[in-house]
Amino acid sequence: MCEFKYQKVRFMAIALCIACITACSNTSQTAKLSNQTSQNQALATNTPPNNPSPISKPQSLTFAPPTKFQGKTVYQVKIPNNEKVIALTLDDGPWKETTPQMLDILKQNGVKATFFWVGTAIQENPEIAKQVVAEGHAIANHTFHHWYKQMDAATAKSEIERTADLIYKTTGVKTNLFRPPGGYLNNGLASYAKSQNYTVVMWSQTSADTDPKAKYQVFVKNVLRDAKPGGIVLMHDGGGDRRRTVQALPLIIQGLKEKGYRFVTVPEILEMGK
Ligand SMILES: [Zn+2]
Repeated sequence: MCEFKYQKVRFMAIALCIACITACSNTSQTAKLSNQTSQNQALATNTPPNNPSPISKPQSLTFAPPTKFQGKTVYQVKIPNNEKVIALTLDDGPWKETTPQMLDILKQNGVKATFFWVGTAIQENPEIAKQVVAEGHAIANHTFHHWYKQMDAATAKSEIERTADLIYKTTGVKTNLFRPPGGYLNNGLASYAKSQNYTVVMWSQTSADTDPKAKYQVFVKNVLRDAKPGGIVLMHDGGGDRRRTVQALPLIIQGLKEKGYRFVTVPEILEMGK
């Protein structure tokens, strides 16, 4: 009986400790963990209780689209006065090497982008996910497994909800922006997302950076040729070798700036078009 009581007390103490640590990791985006395989465990063992995290809080931890766009599919946004604003989107990360490289380029140019994340990639690279959020970019849901196949309602729900939970547990972000893998709108994912008031975010122009043969200059040309006010640009930071997109990104930014464009995130562009 005593042994049982002791076990119970010990269990409660551990649970309390983990709850506290989880809360801390959700509000503090800059916890630097050397071992990302088990973040909470690492924090539990490595973080002294009186050592406040130096990391600053991101500007917003919630990306909720305006009512007008909830449950809708958006390709581009009609902007008042045709103001030259454009949203860069980066899919399939967070990814080793190429995502941090793109973060540096975005930071050097004062550009905020929107990242559409895959659950399996977040599991692989949680520290990069935290860095993206800490640097003020917008985050969106791109399913857990990046499947294209037809899905029943339970699978579609799981693909989206599991990713939403992982995004929240990893970064503290709640996002109601969704992009279906491959842009497939009829395999069960988009209809589930819309039923939950997500905005299904497609694109008005693509860099075509998944073309295995094209040179990076072609990605630049594609984006600059099709740029339009309220446009949403499709690119990739993960899901494969994206070194050519890293090469293209500074030229895309420079070319759009020369055309008079200002860069906004998807939540910002939706806000402008409501
Ligand atoms: Zn994708």
